Amino acid sequence: MPRAEITPRPNFIRAIIDDDLKTNKYGGRVHTRFPPEPNGYLHIGHAKSICLNFSLATEYKGLCNLRFDDTNPSKEELEYVKSIKEDVRWLGFDWDDREFYASDYFQKLHEYAVQLIKAGKAYVCDLSPDEIRAYRGTLTRPGKDSPYRTRPVEENLELFERMRKGEFEDGSRVLRAKIDMAAPNLNMRDPVMYRILHAEHHRSGNKWCIYPTYDFTHGQSDSIEGITHSICTLEFEDHRPLYNWFIEELGIFHSQQIEFARLNLSYTVMSKRMLLELVEGGYVTGWDDPRMPTISGLRRRGYTPESIRDFCERIGVAKKGSMVDIALLEHCLREDLNKRAPRVMAVLHPLKVVLTNYPEDQAEELDALNNPEDPGMGTRKVPFSRVLYIEQDDFREDPPKKFFRLAPGREVRLRYAYFITCVDVVKDEKTGDVLELHCTYDPDTRGGNAPDGRRVKATLHWVSAAHAVKAKVRLYDHLFPKPDPTDLESGADFKDFLNPNSLETLTSCHIEPSLAEAVPGARYQFERLGYFCVDTVESSPGSPVFNRTVTLRDTWAKIQKAEKQTAGVHKEPIRSPEPTEGKSITVPIGKRDDLTALGQEITIDDFSRIDLRAGIICEAYRVEESKKLVRLMVDLGEGRLRQIFAGIRTAYPEPEKLIGKKVIVVANLKPRQMKFGISEGMVLSGGDADRLCITTFDGEPLPGDTVS
Ligand code: ATP
Ligand code: MG
Repeated sequence: MPRAEITPRPNFIRAIIDDDLKTNKYGGRVHTRFPPEPNGYLHIGHAKSICLNFSLATEYKGLCNLRFDDTNPSKEELEYVKSIKEDVRWLGFDWDDREFYASDYFQKLHEYAVQLIKAGKAYVCDLSPDEIRAYRGTLTRPGKDSPYRTRPVEENLELFERMRKGEFEDGSRVLRAKIDMAAPNLNMRDPVMYRILHAEHHRSGNKWCIYPTYDFTHGQSDSIEGITHSICTLEFEDHRPLYNWFIEELGIFHSQQIEFARLNLSYTVMSKRMLLELVEGGYVTGWDDPRMPTISGLRRRGYTPESIRDFCERIGVAKKGSMVDIALLEHCLREDLNKRAPRVMAVLHPLKVVLTNYPEDQAEELDALNNPEDPGMGTRKVPFSRVLYIEQDDFREDPPKKFFRLAPGREVRLRYAYFITCVDVVKDEKTGDVLELHCTYDPDTRGGNAPDGRRVKATLHWVSAAHAVKAKVRLYDHLFPKPDPTDLESGADFKDFLNPNSLETLTSCHIEPSLAEAVPGARYQFERLGYFCVDTVESSPGSPVFNRTVTLRDTWAKIQKAEKQTAGVHKEPIRSPEPTEGKSITVPIGKRDDLTALGQEITIDDFSRIDLRAGIICEAYRVEESKKLVRLMVDLGEGRLRQIFAGIRTAYPEPEKLIGKKVIVVANLKPRQMKFGISEGMVLSGGDADRLCITTFDGEPLPGDTVS
C-alpha cells in the first residue's frame, strides 16, 4: 500500500534506526511488529502504534509482523482477533503471511524455561502469590530471598515437569527467574516466568495448564521472529532490563526494545478495560458505537483511514506522555474530507418556505457543484419548486445584530438557486411558533447572482419539499464533557461522568434526492452543517440513517458561544504593561474550539473565521539557508509543537531570545509546504521591514486559548 502522501517527520526512533543502519547492526534489516493482546477492540492509541510500526517497515523497506500476544488464556476471544485484523487492514496495512501468535511459541518458550533451569537461572517457587508480593520488598527496601531459591536443578526440573503435567493447583507454584532480590528495579527481583492456570486457550485448547508471563514471552517472541526494533509504550521501560536479561541468558537473537509515549486523547478514555465497561454496561451500543475512540467506532462515525494515518504522523512520537487535543484529530479529518466528500444539501431542522410567486405545479433542475475544492468531481442536478425547507436556525423574526440570514423583509441567496425575500411569517396562533415563511423569489437571479449587481449577505442551503427524501440523522458529541475523564476524585467512577448529550437523534430531516441511493459508509458534506456518513449498520435503502462525522465551523455559533461564555463573567481586556511590543487583546475564557483550516484565499467573509490562538514559543532557530526566516516551534496547547516559519530574522537576529515569549498565532491556516519544511500557521507581527516586531502580550491565557 503506497504511503507516499504522508511525509515522515524525523523522530528519535527514526534516528535510532538510521544509526543502526549506519553501523550495520542488523545487517541492514528493519523488522518491526504490532503485538495486540486480543482482549478488546483496537482504539486510536493502537492506531498510533500500528502506523508507527508498519510505516517504519515500509519506509526502510523492511517488514512488520502482526503478532497476537495471546498468553492469557481466560480473556482472549476470537471476535477480538477478527476485529483486530479487520482494523489493521482498514487502516491500510498488510502483514502478508506474517500473522503470528505468541501461543504458537508455547513449546519453544517451555524449552527456553528448561534451558534456564538447567543453567541455574530459574527455580520453582512454592510461595503463595501474597507471600511473593511480601518478599519482593519495595522501592526503598530490598526484597528477601525465597526459601525455594536454592532448590537443586534436578528438583526444579522435576517440579516444573509436574507443573506442566497438571499435578498442581492454580496458584500453588510458579517458575521464577533467579536474578537479584535486592535489585533497585523491582522487575528484576526474581520475576515470575510461568504460572499454573487450568484454563482452555482459544488456540492451544487444553494442551497447556502452565502459561508464560508477558515478560517471559514478549522478548523471546521478538527474538524468534527476528524483530530488530521492538517498539512499545513507555510503561515497559522498566521491563527493558528484564527483556534484555532473558535474551542474553538464553543466548538468542537480540531484538532491541524502544519505548515511546502512549497517545492520550482529550474527551475520551483509551484503556480497553474502560471501553469494555462502557460496552458491557450498555452506555454505548457496542465497540463500534460511533462515539467510541475505537477504530471500528471511528470507521462507523465516518473517519477515513487517511485522516487517522495523517493524525498519527502529525502527533509524532515522543518520550514524554501528553494529552493530544481531539480537535487535532477532527482537523485532520476535515482536511481529508474537504478534498473528497461530495457536497449535498440536507435540512436537519426543517422550516417550510412557500415561494408565493413561484408557479404551483412547476419544478426545475438547477446545477450544483459536487465539490468546489475539486472541479473534477463534476456537477449534479438539484430539483427546485414552490415549497422548500430551510433550516430553522437560518431565520430570525427579530434578528440580533450580527445575524445576516433570513428575517422579515430581508433578501438572501438560496445556494445554486435564486434570491428570495421574506414577506410574511405564518405562526401558530396559540404557541406563537413560526410554522412557515412566505417569500418571493427573483426569477432574474437564477444560479445565484443578480444581474443588477445587488448583493446579499447570506447564502442558505435548502431542499425542495416535494422531492426531498426523509432521513434520520444522528449528531454526536464527545463521550465525556471533561478533557481528561480519568482525572477524578479517588473512588469516583468515570462512567458517572459521561456526557448526557453525546447523542442526539433527529428523525425529520430532509435530504436532497440524489442521496436516496447513498450506499452505507458513503461520506458527504451537508453544506454548512458538517460531514456526514451513511450508517453501515442501521441504514437501509428506504430509510437512510446518517451519522454526523464532524461539524464544520459556524461563525454565528462561535459568536454566540463566546457571548454565552462571557455573559456574567467580568473580564478585563488583558493589557501589556509595555505597549511597545504589542497591542491589547481580550481573551475569552473557555474551551478550545476546533481548528478548521481556512481556504488558501481569504475573502472578507472569511476574515471573521480567522482563528487566533495564544501560543508560547518553545524553540527558535535561524534558518541557515535563508536571510529572512526564523523557524519557531510553538505550543498551542495541542499536545505537540507546531512548526512555523516567520520572516522576522532582521528584527530578531538571535531567535533564541524569542523562547518563552507568548505570541498570537493564526491557527487555522492550511499548513504550507515551504522550502525548509511545513509551516503550520502564522505568528502575528507588525511594523515595517526595518522596525518589525512580533505581537506579544502578558497575562493569563494558556497555549491554545482563543484570542479576539
Ligand atoms: P490498553 O491499555 O488500552 O488496554 P494495551 O497496551 O493493553 O492497551 P495491547 O493490545 O497490549 O493494549 O497493545 C498493543 C500495542 O499497542 C502495544 O505495543 C501497545 O504499547 C500499543 N498501544 C496501546 N495503547 C496505546 C496508546 N494509547 N498509544 C500508543 N500505543 C499504544
Ligand atoms: Mg497490554
